[in-house]
Amino acid sequence: MPARTGDEYLKGLRETSRDLWLGSEKVDSVVDHPMLAGGAQAIADYYDLHHRHPDELLMPDPETGEPISLSHLLPTSTDDLHRRGAALTRIAELSMGTMGRTPDYMNVTFAGFAQDRHRWAGPDGMNDEGYENLVAFQRRLRRDDVSLTHTIVNPSIDKATDYTFGDHPVVPLHKVDETADSIIVCGGRTLATLAPFADESAIYPGRPLPPDTPPEYSLAFTVRLDAPGLLFLCRDSGSRVAPPFDAPFSTKYDEQDAYCIFDHVEIPKRDVWIDSKPEVYNAVMFNSPWWANIMQQTTLRAITKLEFAYALAARMADVVNDTSDATVVQLGEIQTYAETARAALVAAIAEAVTWEDGNVTPNPRYMHPMRSLLPAWFVRVSDIFKEVGGGKMLAAPSRGQLDDERVAALIDTYLPGAKGVTGEERAAVFKLAWDFVGSTFGSRNELYERNYLGSTTLNRLMSHRLYSGPTRARGDELVDRFLADSHNRGE
Ligand SMILES: Cc1cc2nc3c(=O)[nH]c(=O)nc-3n(C[C@H](O)[C@H](O)[C@H](O)COP(=O)(O)OP(=O)(O)OC[C@H]3O[C@@H](n4cnc5c(N)ncnc54)[C@H](O)[C@@H]3O)c2cc1C
Repeated sequence: MPARTGDEYLKGLRETSRDLWLGSEKVDSVVDHPMLAGGAQAIADYYDLHHRHPDELLMPDPETGEPISLSHLLPTSTDDLHRRGAALTRIAELSMGTMGRTPDYMNVTFAGFAQDRHRWAGPDGMNDEGYENLVAFQRRLRRDDVSLTHTIVNPSIDKATDYTFGDHPVVPLHKVDETADSIIVCGGRTLATLAPFADESAIYPGRPLPPDTPPEYSLAFTVRLDAPGLLFLCRDSGSRVAPPFDAPFSTKYDEQDAYCIFDHVEIPKRDVWIDSKPEVYNAVMFNSPWWANIMQQTTLRAITKLEFAYALAARMADVVNDTSDATVVQLGEIQTYAETARAALVAAIAEAVTWEDGNVTPNPRYMHPMRSLLPAWFVRVSDIFKEVGGGKMLAAPSRGQLDDERVAALIDTYLPGAKGVTGEERAAVFKLAWDFVGSTFGSRNELYERNYLGSTTLNRLMSHRLYSGPTRARGDELVDRFLADSHNRGE
C-alpha cells in the first residue's frame, strides 16, 4: 500500500479499539474525544504532509516501487543521510519540534534495526528467525505506513532492587507461557508516548539486563493496540479545547504518554524478534548503530525547536523593546545551543560511520554528547522564557477578550507593545510563549526533553563509561606527555 493520507490514517484509528484510559474515563473513540482529537489531527497532518511534498518526503519502496515515507530509508551513504535529514526537518516543522514521537521516529529506528543483522541475528545466527521476523515487520511498517509507539523501559518500583527485579519479579515485562504459535506476556512498561494515536506498539530493550536475569525477561516484539489484555493509562491531558489563538500548541499537539500494562497478552510468534535470548537482548542497543541513527532524527527535531525558541524569545523582547544586557545575554545563550547542535550534526555526518552490515549513520562520537547536553539546554530554554517573558506571559488577553469591542479598545490603550505593536500582536506572542513553556503542554514538553532518551544522569554516566574512547585516548596521551615533560624539567 502506498503512503497513507491523513483520512486513511484517521479511518484506521477509528477502526482500532483499545483499552485506553484518560482520567476516570475509558476512551471510546480517540478521534472524537475532545482531549485527543487535536493530537489525532496532528498525526493525520503528518501523513498528509508526505503528499504535499512528495519530492522531499516520499521514495519508492525498494521492493514494490510504491511511494512510501522517506523516513524508512536504510542509509548506505552520506547522501542518504542528507536526503533523510531534509525530510525529517520538514516533519519536525509540523509541530516546531514539540512532538517528539511522530511516526518518523520509529520508522528511523526500525530502518536501523533492519539493517543491523550483525546484532539482531546474534552470535552464530542464534536469532536468525527473530531477525527475519524483524525484517518482515519493517517491510510491513513501511508498506502499511503503520503509526508505531514503543515502550522499552521497565518501571521503577524499588530503586534498591529494580536492576535485578529483586522482590517484584512480576512487574518487568516477561513471558509467562507459550503455545505452538504464540507467547503470552505479562508486566508493566513506562511510557508509551503516542499510544492513543498509534496502531501498534514496539517492545525492545531499553537497558541491558544483569547477567543472571532469567531468560524470559529478554523479549522484543510488536503488538497491536487492540490486543486483548493490553491496557494504557494516559497521563492527565495537556490538551485544551479553546481558540487556537489562546493555546496554539495545546489545542493540537499533545502527543500523550501512557503507562502500559500487559495482562496475559498473546503475541503471535511471527511478531516476536527476541524470545528469551539475553545475549541478543543485551547486544542490540548498546554500542550499536541505534544511538547514532536515531540521534539524526532527534537532533534535527531539537535544532528546529531551538531555532523556534530563539526567535520566539527574541520576539518577546522585541515586542516590549527589551534591549537590556540581561535579556540579550540569555537570547545569545539559546542561539549558541541551536548552532552547537547544528554543528554536532554537521560534524557527525561529515565523519559518518559505516557499520558491519553496510549501514551508514552519523558518527556517534559527536552524537552522544547531544544526548546529555540537549536535555539540560531545553531546561535552560524554559528558564530563559520565564526570565524574559515573566508575568507578561500571563497578562496576555484571550481571543474572546480581544473579540469584545469594548475590551479590545481598552487592551489597545492599556496593554499594547512598544513601537506601535498592537495589543493583539503583543498577546499573540506572549500566549504562544506561555503555551510553549508554561502550560501543562509546555511543562510536559520540558519533562519529555529531560527524559525521553533516558535521564541526563544515565546519559552522562554512559558518556564516561561507554563512549569516551577517542576523547580518553588523546587525553591520556596529552597527560602522559605533559607528565613526562614536567618530570624532565625537574631533572
Ligand atoms: C514525557 C516522557 C515521554 C516518554 N516517552 C517514552 C516512550 O515513548 N517510550 C519509552 O520507552 N520511554 C519513554 N520515556 C522514558 C522513560 O519512561 C523514562 O522516563 C526514562 O527512561 C527515565 O526513567 P525515569 O523517569 O524512571 O527516571 P530514572 O531513570 O529513575 O532517573 C531519575 C533520576 O534518578 C536518579 N537515579 C538514581 N539512581 C539512578 C541510576 N542507577 N541510574 C540512573 N539514574 C539514577 C538520577 O538522578 C535520575 O535523574 C518517556 C519519558 C517522559 C518523561
